[in-house]
Amino acid sequence: MSHTRDALFIDGQWVAAASPSTITVVSPTTEEPFGTAPHGTPADIDAAVSAARTALTDSSWAAYGPDERADAMLALAAALEARANATAALVTGEIGMPMTIARAAEGHGPAATLRYYADLARRTPVEEHRTAIGGPGVTVVRREPIGVVAAIIPWNFPQSLMMFKVAPALAAGCTLVIKPAPETALDAFQLADAASEAGLPAGVINIVPGGRETGAYLVGHPGVDKVAFTGSTAAGREIGAVCGRLLRPVTLELGGKSAAIVLDDADLTVVARGLSWASLLNNGQTCHLSTRILAPRSRYAEVVDAVADLAASMPVGDPADPATRVGPLVSARQRERVEDYIALGRTEGGRVATGGRRPDHLDRGWFVEPTVFADVDPGSRLAREEIFGPVLVVLPYDTVDDAVRLANDSEYGLGGTIWTRDHERGMDLARRIHTGSVGVNFYNLDLGSPFGGVKASGLGRELGPEGMTAYISYKSIYTRG
Ligand code: NAD
Repeated sequence: MSHTRDALFIDGQWVAAASPSTITVVSPTTEEPFGTAPHGTPADIDAAVSAARTALTDSSWAAYGPDERADAMLALAAALEARANATAALVTGEIGMPMTIARAAEGHGPAATLRYYADLARRTPVEEHRTAIGGPGVTVVRREPIGVVAAIIPWNFPQSLMMFKVAPALAAGCTLVIKPAPETALDAFQLADAASEAGLPAGVINIVPGGRETGAYLVGHPGVDKVAFTGSTAAGREIGAVCGRLLRPVTLELGGKSAAIVLDDADLTVVARGLSWASLLNNGQTCHLSTRILAPRSRYAEVVDAVADLAASMPVGDPADPATRVGPLVSARQRERVEDYIALGRTEGGRVATGGRRPDHLDRGWFVEPTVFADVDPGSRLAREEIFGPVLVVLPYDTVDDAVRLANDSEYGLGGTIWTRDHERGMDLARRIHTGSVGVNFYNLDLGSPFGGVKASGLGRELGPEGMTAYISYKSIYTRG
């Protein structure tokens, strides 16, 4: 099966790329070519930014009020929903995301995000009148779109993470240039098809896939007003530095190495069931996963066994098979990286409780068995660095204070989970973890509440009303009332 896209989506049109070079997406399951897409260059980015600028200032979109924007977003949601299964199949084909997850998160999830922000657009007044404090008059506070948004998307949840930017940006009245990752250049154009079908005004959404150079050119482009980035901490630091120099607003959703704290009263059946999602979602290639499992020393062996049994029980194989729970890693390079960490873990003295190898029953595809390490030093690289694959470490702790200290002793602060039979105890502990989000007895992103990181996990928040403020420029008009 080969999927081909031969044009970029700029100014509401399908246009040939300025350069003949193409991106070949390779299936991580078969190692065969899966499809091709045009590779965007600076000339294409120039055209896309220019189209987004015109749409922002001089188009029907510029004249839309919140209700018209919301109507357009609902039409876009319906068009995305109509192709949800096809989009999910593309994501599964491109990156090996198990199909059951792809259908929910990548197929149907983006429409739900759009509907949430369409509703928020209607409920957010453009102007608010405030009696001035400390002086006479009435101030009119206006919410204006921040402008042209550069959205840089990673491959791991390409549709949902793209929509975490597109939906609040549209709600605020912005226009966008989207730079998808090369690994997921094909599914990205589903949004273009949907935008055309829904009649979204030309130039509101522009899509130009490419590699990091294309992304870097877009980030620094003089026609861009705001950058929204999801990806690695290393790239986030570079983008943040550029935006700092340009004084350009930026949100950064970066990496993580979150902790799961298993309390001494936890029901290990619940823990194991929950960790299959909270620690291994999408073949371990999810930013918020609880990949450091902290277990009370009194129950350490029991927790290691429960987590190892869970990992060993998850069917590894073709991600298009609904029974599969663990698919391949996204690329040969990513598998090499994960295998290097597994080798490092062994050198650092860790004990492999399960996994650690390529599965015997699969002779092609970039698979690695779900792997659980025990007896790892909490200061080791395996225990501290983001691996981005199905590799977990289980570390012992002595007291709850000790568990909190270990959880917080990280460069990152993105997700995390607490496992206990006592909800109040879980809540108390959740309040003490230095992180952007934490789940008690499960972990599930909530579209209506802020998501993002502290420390090296990022700057700013996506989702919820807080996620929309990043796309709003506030203006105060002082009047005598
Ligand atoms: P990556 O940083 O290599 O690439 C992400 C995107 O940025 C791609 O589109 C890439 O082409 C582009 N890019 C890379 N360097 C750039 C630069 N200097 N300037 C502009 N664009 C640039 O990350 P990845 O490997 O695609 O994704 C995996 C990483 O993303 C992991 O570290 C993961 O934790 C993180 N992530 C974070 C979140 C979150 O919400 N916090 C969500 C998903 C993934």
